[in-house]
Amino acid sequence: MICLSLAAPTLDEAVADVRANLPHIDALELRADLLYPGELAQIGTFPRRLAAADIRLPMILAIRRERDGGRFSGAEAERTALFRSAVGNVANGWFAIDLEEDFNPPGLREAAAEAGTRVIRSLHLPDAFPDDLEERLARMARAPSEILSVAVKINTTRELLRLCRIQELLGSRPRIIRGSGDYGFASGVLAGRLGSMLTCCPAPGRPVPPGQVDAGTLDTLYRYRRLSADTALFCVIGNPVMHSRSPHYHNARFREDGLDAVYLPVQVDLVEDFFALADHLGIRGASVTIPHKAAVIPYLASSDEAVGRIGACNTILRHPGGWHGRNTDVPGFLGPLLAATGRNDLEGSRAAVVGAGGAARGVVFALLSAGASVCVLNRTEARARALAEELRSACRGGATITAGGLDESAMELLESHREVIVQTTSVGMHPNEGGDPLPSYRFRGDETVCDIIYTPEWTRFLGRAEAAGCRTLTGRAMFEEQAAEQYREFRRLV
Ligand code: NAP
Repeated sequence: MICLSLAAPTLDEAVADVRANLPHIDALELRADLLYPGELAQIGTFPRRLAAADIRLPMILAIRRERDGGRFSGAEAERTALFRSAVGNVANGWFAIDLEEDFNPPGLREAAAEAGTRVIRSLHLPDAFPDDLEERLARMARAPSEILSVAVKINTTRELLRLCRIQELLGSRPRIIRGSGDYGFASGVLAGRLGSMLTCCPAPGRPVPPGQVDAGTLDTLYRYRRLSADTALFCVIGNPVMHSRSPHYHNARFREDGLDAVYLPVQVDLVEDFFALADHLGIRGASVTIPHKAAVIPYLASSDEAVGRIGACNTILRHPGGWHGRNTDVPGFLGPLLAATGRNDLEGSRAAVVGAGGAARGVVFALLSAGASVCVLNRTEARARALAEELRSACRGGATITAGGLDESAMELLESHREVIVQTTSVGMHPNEGGDPLPSYRFRGDETVCDIIYTPEWTRFLGRAEAAGCRTLTGRAMFEEQAAEQYREFRRLV
């Protein structure tokens, strides 16, 4: 169930939030501790207000204390009275009240049972994952009918794995498992796999706690309500990773193709722990982004030539013999370039690559593997020379690889390789849009110019090339082609 966590300051606004999210939600949690104090006395009327608006959903009442990450600062006796007034009559309308592990006022549980309201026995750990979480959960329930709930801040990939394994410990017991923070995000999307009854979401326009998305995003982007034990899982791993646009791309493609698959961001600190998590959850493939493109390589059973040559892997695929690594940045760069030039290869061409960082390695290898001669020009010339030495053996036929700096002395080299010019530095990238790595170079108009930066799509450098009449290619074309190549691989594994 997608559970809208109501963080509005008034009950009227809470009703409005429910109404606005109705297509995407299956339950709601009223966070009474976030209401204005003057509203608290009215919480018992909330179910009636919703019924009057013809809204009938399971409702949970939570009055979270400050030490549990909430805002209620009153005495426990006051909280007890609030819960009692809410569950006080038989037709109170609450599906459940959320009572903490240590909060068991005499008679409240019984009163709730009489009114047909269940107890969620909860453990809130907003800061750290305790060593004894499993034991605490196992002994927490006061009655067999209680729903166990744990909301814990996840600080590492290993903790996410531990949270996922709690499923085995709890058997078929009804439970709610919430891992908060960016590391915990997957536990919300995959609640069904963890045997968890629901995932809480904020209403749009209300603060979004780290590791959560709004109900509409969970429902439409991640297809939460359609996920099952058979759904094929894919992800992007990185650190940070929550900003990635890849879930939008891959989930849209899965939806268009009618495939039972989902793709989500998984923040990873140690790749070793990710591979254990991937085995536990049955993840079938992943995109790999900064800073893990090299770190995943020792875990691969096999890989394509580009991974070995470049030392960077951006795609991992679960094959019968183990993980297979690919670098789709290489075909992602080459595909649009060959399409734009109308050629099948670059034999006999001369290309200049500006920059010698991680992305340049893939670009240089791609150009060499297509048969071009390449010169690498970089601010730190020694880095350009090192890259040229490393990739020299990838030259085909009579092609050559040379290196230089970015100063005037290197301009001759650039002139002699200007048929294709590829800009791979971060100069001109958001938020430094005004940057230009080669301000003194005058385009003639006969060059094919690529800038692999995709934020912004049009850099100053590429704009100058376009204005001079050059054939131009944006970084977006490369990004989309490498994603399309990944998707073709993922689709085979669904
Ligand atoms: P990186 O490894 O950090 O390399 C940065 C490169 O930029 C180095 O060559 C560095 O030169 C150069 N550089 C940085 N500041 C400079 C300056 N002020 N003047 C001259 N050169 C400068 O980064 P990366 O991973 O290669 O990424 C580079 C760019 O490619 C980023 O904008 C990234 O978003 C983009 N990218 C795009 C795609 C795509 O699919 N379109 C894929 C990957 C990356 P030094 O060696 O002298 O420091």
